[in-house]
Amino acid sequence: MKPLTIALSKGRIFDETLPLLAAAGIHPTENPEKSRKLIIATNHAHIRLVIVRASDVPTYVQYGTADFGIAGKDVLIEHGGDGLYQPLDLKIAQCRMMVAVRKGFDYAAAVQPGCRLRVASKYPNIAAEHFADKGVHVDLIKLYGSMELAPLVGLSDAIVDLVSTGNTLKANDLEAVEHIADISSRLIVNKAALKLKYDVIQPIIDTFAAATQQAA
Ligand code: AMP
Repeated sequence: MKPLTIALSKGRIFDETLPLLAAAGIHPTENPEKSRKLIIATNHAHIRLVIVRASDVPTYVQYGTADFGIAGKDVLIEHGGDGLYQPLDLKIAQCRMMVAVRKGFDYAAAVQPGCRLRVASKYPNIAAEHFADKGVHVDLIKLYGSMELAPLVGLSDAIVDLVSTGNTLKANDLEAVEHIADISSRLIVNKAALKLKYDVIQPIIDTFAAATQQAA
């Protein structure tokens, strides 16, 4: 059998991918939340998982170090998606990319033509494109996490971040003021690997597609 490497990130994507892997008869031998291992074996000697940061999944697949992986659309838009097939929306880890501000902040006034807005985000490309489309000048502040803090301590006027339940915004006295995009996780496949290992990868894609349709 041809060896297969699958890139996944810990947390929600890993948890929601487990049933898809199980449908394809793939069972990891360890839980990455408990194990510190970055390479996880499966019940198939030729299939292994590599556990990487969510934003690094496209890079591992792009360079062919992983044959395929699962990444959020947020990460894919930010990465650009070069060298990747994106054959399937898995409809997992669903959320929304939103603009949020402190409650009471006059967002409508702040995005008038000629105004300048300070925006903090882990997604500077998505944020830049969104505000460029609106014709609003922004000073972008790149953060790596806890974006909700930025407007509270005066680092920025607004944030661009993922919202799922809305509980984090609420707990921090923030409110969503604009919807940028619906986000879910996609299967991403290395283009060369799909050609060279078509007989192994395509049946897995087909199984994931059927399982995704069944869950919808
Ligand atoms: P919530 O309180 O459920 O709205 O979740 C918001 C927090 O979870 C924010 O800090 C987001 O960055 C993060 N978050 C929500 N959905 C996702 C997702 N699908 N992938 C990664 N982070 C997420």
